[in-house]
Amino acid sequence: MTNYVFPPHDPVTLPVRGSDKLFPVRRVYCVARNYEAHAVEMGHDPNKEPPFFFQKNPENICKPGTNFPYPSQSKDVHHEIELVVALAKGGKNIPQAEALEYVYGYGIGLDMTLRDIQGTAKKAGRPWESAKAFDHSAPCSEIIPANTISHPRKGKIWLDVNGTQTQEGNLNQLIWKVPEIIAYLSAQFALSAGDLIFTGTPSGVGAINTGDQLVGGVDGVGEISVKVV
Ligand code: MN
Repeated sequence: MTNYVFPPHDPVTLPVRGSDKLFPVRRVYCVARNYEAHAVEMGHDPNKEPPFFFQKNPENICKPGTNFPYPSQSKDVHHEIELVVALAKGGKNIPQAEALEYVYGYGIGLDMTLRDIQGTAKKAGRPWESAKAFDHSAPCSEIIPANTISHPRKGKIWLDVNGTQTQEGNLNQLIWKVPEIIAYLSAQFALSAGDLIFTGTPSGVGAINTGDQLVGGVDGVGEISVKVV
């Protein structure tokens, strides 16, 4: 038995639809500004520039059926509904044409963002980490195996706050498609089985409040439901 100074943490896992097996999460990558209308609403040029990435931590995941605790360090917490890609295998410099062979399945995630803290960081030229990788910042649905739904290329992506739709887009509006994201990301990082990739949010991001019920999804893929407490 390995002689650890304290017991190592168990891996963070997500349930898999139609299975009693669990998906063990390794890393959580996120794509920024991947829908034109969202880039514009955030004050950026929507012209296609190379994708850029940031990370959350696996421990930031809010599992299905758990609440999102409103973080006390912020007064402007935003929802960002996103398609999540779950990898079955990894590697470096994965060719775009083969990239979908690396995908285990898909999920629906919320890239929760502390917009006030992110704004301060942007102005100061500081990292986004405190605005993006805070505790509970990554609510995620169950993982839906690609062998049951194939690889979605279009479909409405939406979020309702207390029954009113706030975000709406379509996967066919992704600036960087899933194979391109995997190819670009694997040029920078050695990807691995268990990695999740949040693929970016459509327009309509906005502030949430304690007590809000967030329900969102991608048609043909799945849904997520989270209560803010
Ligand atoms: Mn996002």
